[in-house]
Amino acid sequence: AFAMQGLTKVFGSGPSRVEALRGVDLTVPAAELVVLLGPSGSGKSTLLNILGGLDSATSGSLFYFNQDLGGMDESELTQYRRQHIGFVFQFYNLMPSLTALENVQLVTEIAENPMDAAEALAMVGLENRQDHFPAQLSGGEQQRVAIARAIAKRPRVLFCDEPTGALDSKTGRTVLNVLQEVNRELGTTIFIVTHAASTAAMAHRVIHFADGRISKEVENQHVLSAAEIDW
Ligand code: ATP
Ligand code: MG
Repeated sequence: AFAMQGLTKVFGSGPSRVEALRGVDLTVPAAELVVLLGPSGSGKSTLLNILGGLDSATSGSLFYFNQDLGGMDESELTQYRRQHIGFVFQFYNLMPSLTALENVQLVTEIAENPMDAAEALAMVGLENRQDHFPAQLSGGEQQRVAIARAIAKRPRVLFCDEPTGALDSKTGRTVLNVLQEVNRELGTTIFIVTHAASTAAMAHRVIHFADGRISKEVENQHVLSAAEIDW
């Protein structure tokens, strides 16, 4: 699905110049679950933001199926994001004044081919929390609402930047389990950035990042389900 070659990203200039990406070559077929690991500042979020059309690369080529993302202007990128991309962040970014169902409906009302909002909540196991406001939900439940909101438009790709970063390890596993089910049941390509190295066992492909480059790439022959992993 994604093919990138020699991808670089430079922020700033002069003394504040940062080479966040220094030549990333990577191909990720559709429907894979990919885990990105690497130290703080190694460029993981920068890569996710470029793949998701939130930012553009400084140089290199980036194709998504046969679309040239590097050649898109701002309005084409916005269109690409709206149609195909879902994001899940460490802090859930839910609207506090809206219920769980209404938060998901924000997306289903404008998407081209959305799921039913209640169906999306049921997929993440929250059929009994539709009318709760974010403040009435646990952290893990709020993150599951955020995942329901992200998948409700049936994106082809879901980018998750430290989705379990704010959760205790047990709750984090529940969230990872949900993401794995989305990948398996909907065939959504999923990228997960995480500091929890054991998550690698549930990935089809594990990308190790260091200093703006891929330092190691591993294709798992045997993918474990979240429940099978010895966390
Ligand atoms: P973490 O695990 O801490 O989230 P990361 O691997 O996601 O780290 P990035 O956020 O991609 O790291 O940052 C890579 C480098 O680029 C860092 O040195 C950071 O300071 C720099 N950087 C990121 N975003 C910007 C920006 N908008 N402007 C300037 N520099 C930036
Ligand atoms: Mg980051």
